[in-house]
Amino acid sequence: MLEHLSEQPKDKILSLSEAYREDPRTTKVDLGVGVYKDASGHTPVMRAVKAAEQRLVEQQDTKAYTGLAGDPQFSNVMIKLVLGDAVPRDRVAAVATPGGTGAIRQGLELIKLAAPDATIWYSDPTWPNHPSIINYLGMKSKTYRYFDANTGNVNYVGMLTDLGAVMPGDVVLLHGCCHNPTGANLTMPQWKGVIELLQQKSAVPFIDIAYQGFGDGLEKDGAGTQAVAAAFDNVLIAASCSKNFGIYRERTGILMAVAKDSDECKIAQQNMAFLNRQNFSFPPDHGARVVTTILTDPELRADWQAELEEVRLGMLDLRAQLADELRKRSNSDRFDFLAEHRGMFSRLGTTPDKVETLRRDHGIYMVGDSRMNIAGLNADTVPVLAQAIIDAGI
Ligand code: PMP
Repeated sequence: MLEHLSEQPKDKILSLSEAYREDPRTTKVDLGVGVYKDASGHTPVMRAVKAAEQRLVEQQDTKAYTGLAGDPQFSNVMIKLVLGDAVPRDRVAAVATPGGTGAIRQGLELIKLAAPDATIWYSDPTWPNHPSIINYLGMKSKTYRYFDANTGNVNYVGMLTDLGAVMPGDVVLLHGCCHNPTGANLTMPQWKGVIELLQQKSAVPFIDIAYQGFGDGLEKDGAGTQAVAAAFDNVLIAASCSKNFGIYRERTGILMAVAKDSDECKIAQQNMAFLNRQNFSFPPDHGARVVTTILTDPELRADWQAELEEVRLGMLDLRAQLADELRKRSNSDRFDFLAEHRGMFSRLGTTPDKVETLRRDHGIYMVGDSRMNIAGLNADTVPVLAQAIIDAGI
């Protein structure tokens, strides 16, 4: 049997990490894989996470299965965190999933059950896992323009023009905040424009929100998602706790489905639990319980939010430093967009050749599409990157 298997293409980002590890240069800089790193290059366990884990070790008296949908309290706190009061609770079905990726996968499977002929629209570019899972599931898809490499901003006109071709019942995948890989995000008026268009088209929005708290703060980062959730009968939301709680390996995420009314919600809930059953039965619980512990304890929650703010402001500071260094070195403001971008990533907007030059000549590793993980920088490496960008003629 196994002889029929052929080699899978290597994951580009993971291959980049390997190449980085093997590079003997001590001056090398890793801007590849999407994991937050502090100034010393370490991905720390957040203080509130440690405290919640300690509490669980002391107080948890069973490791028996949770429900198929995970712990209902986890759903409650996450719905509140992501959706606020945008939708009545009895219209939101939710299941815990293995990470945000699991939520996207389960969401796509739910679409396959409910509307197998729907076309899934995703941004060009997007996180490569989106098209990869969509294609693996054999679903129809189309792309919409999103990024203008000349300005570093969202190509809003291109986006609306392309979404003009959406058919009733099609699903439009949107990044809730901190767009990966570009770092360019919709403004609130632009969100409203997208909402109006998708309402006219009778489309179903599917929001992937993996970086709430990394952009403009927890509340502002949730505002687009909440506006969408409030405006449609049906919305899917895949949320990840990997980044904002720093619990990447615990695989903690949630799929939410906004339904038209509480009856439709009950059916959606059953189907989502059914899909969990088919794929892995019970979702992972440890990370979900850590998140619930933090979000329900005022002290832990305050400490988590304070640390998340430190992380967010640290990245904003690095963005400002980088834009500043580039302004000085290029005698122009053409890189100012780097300070306007939000989240962990920015797309520099250069060619794979120049990305290769940066790697070969300067030991700077970024993804081939010129996505940089801003958290991979520190005060010492910002000027190094800025000079390398100028030297490479970008
Ligand atoms: N969506 C986007 C856009 C992401 O960048 C990520 C993480 N790289 C995820 C979802 C899901 O992350 P995880 O499965 O690790 O929670």
